[in-house]
Amino acid sequence: MELLLKAHKAEESPYKAINQLTDKWEKYSHEVTRLLIGGVNNVLKSRLRKAAEDAALVFKGRVQYNPRTGKPIKISEWKRLEEAINKYLGIEKNMMAKKMINDSFWLGTLINRLDTEGQRIQRPLSRFDVDNPDFIGYNYTDYDLDRIEIEQRATGIYLQNITDRARSKIQTIIIEGTKQRKRPSKVFQDLWDQEEDINRDWDRVVKTETSYGTTNGLLISQLRQEPEEEHIFMKGISSPNACRHCLRLINEQVVVLKDTPTETGRITIEGVEYEVIWPEKSNYGRKSANYWPCIPLHPYCRCAWTRWYLELEELLGREAK
Ligand SMILES: [Zn+2]
Repeated sequence: MELLLKAHKAEESPYKAINQLTDKWEKYSHEVTRLLIGGVNNVLKSRLRKAAEDAALVFKGRVQYNPRTGKPIKISEWKRLEEAINKYLGIEKNMMAKKMINDSFWLGTLINRLDTEGQRIQRPLSRFDVDNPDFIGYNYTDYDLDRIEIEQRATGIYLQNITDRARSKIQTIIIEGTKQRKRPSKVFQDLWDQEEDINRDWDRVVKTETSYGTTNGLLISQLRQEPEEEHIFMKGISSPNACRHCLRLINEQVVVLKDTPTETGRITIEGVEYEVIWPEKSNYGRKSANYWPCIPLHPYCRCAWTRWYLELEELLGREAK
């Protein structure tokens, strides 16, 4: 499973602008990790420098811990460490959840509009990075705006899990370092060794949630357009190195878009049965054997939906003959 997820990390969305948005937030979160570990190290260093001034605590260049109390780090020092951790994790998390999801829904909305206008985006798109996206101007209803807010809360919770994990990792390294009388340089090294691991956690949420947001923005925007036909057909595009589930359930598959879930997840139109998709459809809680088509299909999924017309299918079919 881990190997499968690793493979997905290399996947690129068919839409360059989505890759650009993902990169932006991954870079941002990695910078937070760097500042976090750097900040913690600085607090620890100043503590050690203070300790170094006390001759009794340093022997042959090594910091000696108090064996009597077994508590080399005082409560006041823990507080400073907590402050350093909170400084980089607390505020960033809330901002990320709000802005990243706003950006994603907005990007999905813009992609849909450009796609509809027959301008498939090939070049990077920078217009998604706005402070107050005009969702109302694109016919979003109050219900749709609530959907964005719910998604922001969900992302906030996923990011909270990451920050909690990062915090506990850092605290464990410091506690174990002092318990085992590790050299400060070793403790610093142990902290920096966590960088990649913490970044991997960020990347998973950034990749999955930007995909979820852009997909839902695109689908909602599609649903809020003037209806041209009775049914809205969409077609899946996967990247060439997508997993077998995506290739089977999404790639080149024609599905029907509805505003709300249908009971069976399927619909029959003119004798042909189609899978149905709707905004917020997900495989959450489903095993891969029971996956149904939705984007993201799984964490790290980079597939995308695009509008499809059955007449186009017939046309292409005729050309193929
Ligand atoms: Zn996929």
